[in-house]
Order: sequence, then C-alpha cells, then structure tokens
Amino acid sequence: MDISGLYKIFLEHPTVTTDSRECPEGSIFFALKGASFNGNAFAGKALEQGCAYAVVDEKEVAETGDSRYIVVDDCLSALQQLANYHRRKLGTRIVGVTGTNGKTTTKELLAAVLGEKYNVLYTEGNFNNHIGVPKTLLRLKPEHEMAVIEMGANHPGEIKTLVNIVEPDYGLITNVGKAHLAGFGSFEGVIRTKGELYDYLRDHGGKVFINSGDPILSEIAGSLVRIKYGISDVADAEVNGEVTVCDPYLNFRWRHEDGPWHNVSTHIIGSYNIMNMLAAACVGLYFEVKPEQVDHALATYVPKNNRSELEVTAHNSLIIDAYNANPTSMNAALTNFRDMKADNKMAILGDMGELGAVSNEEHQKVVDFLKDSGLDEVWLVGKEFGKTVCPFRKFNDVEEVKQAIAAHRPEGRCILIKGSNSMHLYQLPKLL
Ligand code: ATP
Ligand code: MG
Repeated sequence: MDISGLYKIFLEHPTVTTDSRECPEGSIFFALKGASFNGNAFAGKALEQGCAYAVVDEKEVAETGDSRYIVVDDCLSALQQLANYHRRKLGTRIVGVTGTNGKTTTKELLAAVLGEKYNVLYTEGNFNNHIGVPKTLLRLKPEHEMAVIEMGANHPGEIKTLVNIVEPDYGLITNVGKAHLAGFGSFEGVIRTKGELYDYLRDHGGKVFINSGDPILSEIAGSLVRIKYGISDVADAEVNGEVTVCDPYLNFRWRHEDGPWHNVSTHIIGSYNIMNMLAAACVGLYFEVKPEQVDHALATYVPKNNRSELEVTAHNSLIIDAYNANPTSMNAALTNFRDMKADNKMAILGDMGELGAVSNEEHQKVVDFLKDSGLDEVWLVGKEFGKTVCPFRKFNDVEEVKQAIAAHRPEGRCILIKGSNSMHLYQLPKLL
C-alpha cells in the first residue's frame, strides 16, 4: 500500500503502536525489526489484542487473508514516511532540538515556555531516535499550534534522516561536545552530524536559535538567520543572562536587549543549565510569550528522570545526574559541584560509555580534574575508570558499590552521582 492509502487509514485510526504488548483499541501496529526481534512475528497478536490494522513487511504474514494486514516494502520506512506526510498535511510550526548535552532539558523548557501561550506537542521523555521521532509526529493534532521535537544521534547521517522526517521550521543545537565518539569516529564527526540540522534549515529558509557565544555553532551556522541568546558579556545576543547564585539550585537573571533584568529562581541543579534556560527564554520571546510568562515557566519547571535533580535523604544530600555522562557533561557537572558551597563533598562517578579510542585519555582527564577539586571523597565505578592512575577508591560495578554502602553508608555528605546510564548508578540514591 502506498503512503496516501495508509494515511487515509491513519486518519480513521490515529493511534500508532510498535509494541505488541501495548495495543490500544483501534490502533495501527507497525511491525518493526530490531537486532533481536521481528515485529512481523507479533502482528497477529497485536490484532488479537485490539489493533485495528497491522502494517507488515513480510508478505507471508498477511497470507491468512485477514484484511486487517497492510503490506508495505519496509515498516520503518512506512512509519517515517507516514509521519512526514502527516506533518506536511498539518503544517504545524516545528522547532527541532538537537545537540550533545541538554536536549531533553531544553526541549522541556521550550515546551513549558511556549505552553504558556500555545497548545504545544513535544517529544515525550527521550524518544528522540528514528522510531521515537516519527511516533511523536504522529501524535500531532490539528489543534496543536506548535511542536518541539528532540532529535538525537550517535552516528553520522542520523540527524539528516530525522530532519527530513520532521522538516523543522526552526532549529536549536544546544551545544556540540564530546560524546558517542566511537560511533561518530571523531569530534569533527559529531560537529558535522549536529550541523545536519543547520544544513536542512539553510536549504529550506529556516531560522536558528543559537548560543552566539559558542564559536563552533557560530561557525557552522554560516549564513543562517539567527535569533541569538548567550551569557552577558560573552555573547552578542538578543536574550542574554548570567548566573546569580547556584547553591544548590540555579538562580539567574536574563534580559532582552538592554531591557529590565528578570530574576528567576529555578528548581534545577547545575550552572550549565543556564544555557538551556536562556535558550527557552529566547524561543519564548521570539514567539511573543510575555516576559512574566517566560519567568513563570522557567521558575516552575521541575527536572525528571535523574537529570540535575537534588534529593535530600535522612542521611545525605544527593545530586542525581545518573542519566547520562560524556566528557563534556561530566566536566560541566564536576565544575558546578566543585564550585558549590557545601561541606563533606563526595562524588560517585561511573564510566562514560561509547568513547572508543579516546576512552582512556578522557577518563584520565576526569580523575586529574578531581585530584585538584577539593572533594573529600571520590568513588569511581567501572572498568574505564579502573584503568586510570589516581588515588581514589575504585569499584568494578554498581553491585560492589551497593555492598560498600551496606557495610558503611556515607553520612552527612553532599554526594554527586553521575555516570552513563549503562552503569546503573540510578540504583544508588535509595541506599544513600
Ligand atoms: P540524551 O543524549 O541522553 O538524550 P540530552 O542531550 O537530552 O541527553 P539531558 O537529558 O537534558 O540531555 O541532560 C543530560 C545531562 O547532560 C544532564 O543531567 C547534565 O549533566 C548535562 N547537561 C544538560 N545541559 C547541559 C549543558 N547545556 N551543557 C553541558 N551539560 C549539560
Ligand atoms: Mg535526551
């Protein structure tokens, strides 16, 4: 079946699922394939469980004669094309967000600010890949006035694929840092890939929101129309601001051009989040959200899912940043932690994944930074940190850390917990 035929069915059945364990009544099941599964094998089950149709790409599956099977050449491509078709039909204004660090936080802040004035669709959680992005677009409804779509990548060409599905009108690259170096091949590979968002906008008359204090972004933006934000005195920007206090929560002030300062007290940890906040203020003002509404949205945003969260337990204060880690975000988190005024500081850090050939060097840089950072205690978790030369206590994995806590729990400390998600450090807060 071609995409326009599939779209007619979608209009009657506007819920899409790719998981045969979650089949809302009347939805359309797409039989995707992964490294260890083939959705075609679950298409029958999806129909039994309530799906109205099952889109499959193995003809034999449909040979039962059941008219609810829709055969296409490739289910993933059909899902992506359908999403793009839908996006084009609705013509919603879309802001695409990518970057190495802070995509989800920025996306949520943008949605919060724009949500003060508009009905906004935005990426749920971290569904920012070749499947999550089309599924997000397929949630677009005529009543949505704007959409904010997060796009992630860990290998070259991935952002290009996603922007061609999303066709954003505006783009925002949060920053370009060192992450997924194994997949990208080099830092230049990261820059090129993130730049695919700018390339699309350049070719289609789009505009970018940009941290004008970031030399890499400024360079790759080239001739693009820019709406600028940045740290006062560093960036020449329409929306500029600076951290006032960050202890533990970020307090900052911002202003538009030379207008009055707005002070905002946030619920988020980490001075690095000021860039995400300024980005959201810049986007909001551009779309004519009132300054007081911008302030309200930024001040009331509460981070989720182990990103820049503070939790005070009966024993310790925890800064939980265990959602992900790469050299850039590790450096940002450690600099912020070093500069915080707190007693008895301790860091529990897990390996930074997917760094390929530079893994040793990047882990050693972290421990070298820690040697001079004045922390009372450092625990390092994982094989990569295990190879570093340093005076700190080392653990092979999170299980060993749990045993150490069970034997002797730290007390009265301010503890930063950060590592790649694969290190499972998110299991520690409840023990501390
Ligand atoms: P992912 O690649 O997993 O989707 P992301 O880009 O969506 O990550 P977030 O989930 O918003 O990023 O934040 C993850 C972590 O990145 C934060 O907990 C924080 O440590 C760090 N971080 C967030 N914003 C910035 C920033 N502007 N600069 C540097 N580090 C940041
Ligand atoms: Mg994310």
